[in-house]
Amino acid sequence: MEVKLKPTLSIVVPCRNEEESLPHFWAEITAIIARLEADGVAAELLFIDDGSTDGTTRMIESFAASAHNVHFVIFSRNFGKEAAMLAGLKEASGDFVVVVDADLQHPPSYIPQMLEAVKSGEYDCAGMLRTRTGDSKLRTFFSRYFYRVISALSNMEVIDGAGDFRLMSRCYVDAILQLNERNRFSKGIFQWVGFKTKWYKYENVPRVAGDTKWSFWKLFLYALDGITAFSSKLLAVASVMGVLLFLLSIASVIFVIIRKLIWDDPVQGWASTICIILFCAGLQLFTTGILGEYLAKTFNEVKQRPHYIIRKKQ
Ligand code: UDP
Ligand code: MG
Repeated sequence: MEVKLKPTLSIVVPCRNEEESLPHFWAEITAIIARLEADGVAAELLFIDDGSTDGTTRMIESFAASAHNVHFVIFSRNFGKEAAMLAGLKEASGDFVVVVDADLQHPPSYIPQMLEAVKSGEYDCAGMLRTRTGDSKLRTFFSRYFYRVISALSNMEVIDGAGDFRLMSRCYVDAILQLNERNRFSKGIFQWVGFKTKWYKYENVPRVAGDTKWSFWKLFLYALDGITAFSSKLLAVASVMGVLLFLLSIASVIFVIIRKLIWDDPVQGWASTICIILFCAGLQLFTTGILGEYLAKTFNEVKQRPHYIIRKKQ
């Protein structure tokens, strides 16, 4: 007789100092898990504690003690959300895996409908696209341009509003795990592996409690990281500017010589010279900076350090 096992869903939750949000999250997610169980889906919860310094760790351990299907991974320090997600995907054993934020900005109530889309086999991934209501105008403006620039630079469409709230099939997760790079820009990684993704739109929800750890400057560096992780075209920018400047310098030499020969009028003053020197020096530093970015990335990759260190898991 053939035994038909229940399909399993792993719910991965990266947490960093979420003691204020976690009780709300727990209440919602347990209700969803009960609903899934009723529909014949067995779910496991997998908390990744990314170096929390508040009561998060204790809270997660007590959740795990209270139910057989709750597991956790505790990092030895903060390694960042990308590392936490990677750990979650590695440790997850389900036929399907969903990544959810602990601050309820990824409403767990969407999980059943996402699961339907992937379970049917038509899609390998279901992702939630957030609208930008509630974001400041400036932030929205920069985000829009960031997506356009990175899409143009990396020859693939990185979708505005697509975050990490995704439900994936086993095959999709295994593909992601094959990309072993240290500089993990998951927006690009998710897109790079391909497959068919079903998109659902949802209204942006403010955090239930606590603060986001993203400052504007951090977002800017993240954008730069993303661009250099997925495209080497910035290096071409340096070459193109070099060629343009070279052409400009030849034109100005010809101009100066002709002016001297015809009107006997040599260039005067040091102001123009200083301007040119400053301009060229600035441009050189800028392009060296771009080179440095790529070199630093390469340095990080060749060291082959682990993505994270686990202190405890259950
Ligand atoms: N997070 C994490 N490690 C970090 C920062 C954040 O695991 O270094 C978790 C955090 O606990 C939350 C999720 O990643 O569950 C999203 O973080 P946050 O809400 O700060 O980011 P935002 O929603 O503003 O993008
Ligand atoms: Mg958040």
